[in-house]
Amino acid sequence: MLSDQDFLRYGRQLLLPQWGEAGQNTLTRKRVVIIGLGGLGCPALQYLAGAGIGTLRLVDADTVSLSNLPRQTLYGQQAVGRAKVEVAAEWLNRHNPAISVEVETRMATASTLPRLLAGADLVLDCTDNLTTRHAINAACVKAGKPLVSGAAIGWQGQLLVIQPGVADSPCFACLSDPNEESHSASCAEAGVAGPVVGAVGTLQALLAIQLLLGLDTPAGLHRFDGLQFQWQRFALAKSPDCPVCANAFCE
Ligand SMILES: [Zn+2]
Repeated sequence: MLSDQDFLRYGRQLLLPQWGEAGQNTLTRKRVVIIGLGGLGCPALQYLAGAGIGTLRLVDADTVSLSNLPRQTLYGQQAVGRAKVEVAAEWLNRHNPAISVEVETRMATASTLPRLLAGADLVLDCTDNLTTRHAINAACVKAGKPLVSGAAIGWQGQLLVIQPGVADSPCFACLSDPNEESHSASCAEAGVAGPVVGAVGTLQALLAIQLLLGLDTPAGLHRFDGLQFQWQRFALAKSPDCPVCANAFCE
């Protein structure tokens, strides 16, 4: 049930026919887990808070460093050295005290993920390494949680929606074999353009809102080239040999 303040705050999005009062009520009851509060997680959490998601669970074990500031615009220079989850929780409380904030200062690993995902309606992978991405993907497939995966490096961005409950929906391991050694560079090695990672994080929030509202999300893998300013969409089929999702939904 929306209050008068809610109607004032959320008025512009309530006008959207696909959103409306019913959609806003739905979002108020949802819990979204954001794993990684870097260049992807900062804009994602800001727009999810703006949308009025009821509960945001923030997962990150890192502290803010000076080299984060060009992309992670949630943090000011005075935040350097502080835990990212703490600074982000303070921002959320200032932005909208009605949002419940849960903080987890632990790494997302195969052993911690079942607890980190408990009670989640949707998960955002905003991390920056392939090992963690595969662990999050496997945990979400196992727990049947929808996952919005984002990544950025150099001038390139990438988005993928994984819906374990939907027949024929591929997972991250259908795209990239978790048992193969990774040769991909990290942002610390290859560099990254701030606005590219910011755009991908913002679009993760958009896809999350669409999923929570029950709207269709675009299928396939989406890649953005920030130098050529071009989007590409790649069809991605569920792999019958996928070590993660091939046998996850036999029943
Ligand atoms: Zn798969």
